[in-house]
Amino acid sequence: MRQIDFTNTQVASSETARTINRSVVLNLIRKRQPISRADLARVSGLQRSTVSLITEQLIREKWVVYGPTGRLPRGRRPTFLRLNDRRGIVVADIRPTEITVAVADVNGRFLSHQAVPTPDNPRAALSSLTTRIRHLMEVHSDLIFEGLGISVPGRFDPLTKHIVFAPNLHWPHFNIQGPLEKATGIRVEVENAANACALAEVWFGNAEKVRDFVLVTVSEGVGTGIFSDGRLIKGRSGMAGEFGHVSIDPAGPLCGCGGRGCWEVFASNTAALRYYHESTSSPNGPSFQDLLSLADAGDSLALRALEKMAHAIGRGMRIVVAGLAPEEIVIAGEFTRLWKILGPTIEAELATAALVGTPPRVRPAAAEPRMARLRGTVALVLQRHFGPSGHVSSPARGSKPALIRTQ
Ligand SMILES: [Zn+2]
Repeated sequence: MRQIDFTNTQVASSETARTINRSVVLNLIRKRQPISRADLARVSGLQRSTVSLITEQLIREKWVVYGPTGRLPRGRRPTFLRLNDRRGIVVADIRPTEITVAVADVNGRFLSHQAVPTPDNPRAALSSLTTRIRHLMEVHSDLIFEGLGISVPGRFDPLTKHIVFAPNLHWPHFNIQGPLEKATGIRVEVENAANACALAEVWFGNAEKVRDFVLVTVSEGVGTGIFSDGRLIKGRSGMAGEFGHVSIDPAGPLCGCGGRGCWEVFASNTAALRYYHESTSSPNGPSFQDLLSLADAGDSLALRALEKMAHAIGRGMRIVVAGLAPEEIVIAGEFTRLWKILGPTIEAELATAALVGTPPRVRPAAAEPRMARLRGTVALVLQRHFGPSGHVSSPARGSKPALIRTQ
């Protein structure tokens, strides 16, 4: 997909200009709905006639509908526009132990969802996914389905269409996109879980204004999604962001990737459970959720295990800070439930990480991890129409609007 940055002035053909202006209007409606055509023109800097042409087309295409009629002084009654919430998106979040399938509307509101255990091979997963997706599409047959977004605990190569690196899933390389498109009849987009969480922050969270941030997912493994200069970085074969598999101790424990002492074997949920197990020697360890509850209730061994994990998260982030110099690091992970206890440990590790100036801000993601991945996959599907980052462009005061006017 071509990357277009809507925050800078573009010099482009009239067709590209129309595409940009359409995206700007769509994003303004998404962010400020219900909004009148007059306000769309005022905020975007586009001419009224251009806004009318674009909105008429969006209404014909069923992306936008008339919203509530507003009231202004002197009896004028402008007609407000909003996104058509009859536009639906199917999303699936594949995790090593569980797959969640859900239906959302164009505003990222979830209408229904269900979770099933993850099969041990991709063929069985494909069959299970197809059954559930078809069922949800039947249940919501009143929606116009725009596409299917899938979040995976691995990297998706956009050229070969294969999931090429998913060490915690233990599946061979496989193509999930083609067979699912054939089975469901809708377009399928696949994205790495950390990248999906980064998209969720930009579209539905607090990172809209930040141009350089890194999203770190901490679950069975550790992944990062890199948002640099206002766009998601993919790298060759979609492999950018695998900081979790940088070895920080060659003599450390074996990792799912085949290496030793990777960042994630010290900083993941699995690592915290190992620390706890080592300190108790009990044969049946708790689940990670149980470990969090134990720590929350003041259990000192659980707290110590999680503190050790938090130290490792912070230490590994030094590599991220030195390499990418983000303004902000956002963390998606169940452990952020105890941010008040564990956040300061991570912040202390990062305090001296910046080579120049102050360290980046670090904070938990806006949504809890499962919701962040699902929301991110909604954005993944919608960005085909709304633009890659979902940014709303607005003209700077005293300068030309950062838009191209077309007639
Ligand atoms: Zn590894």
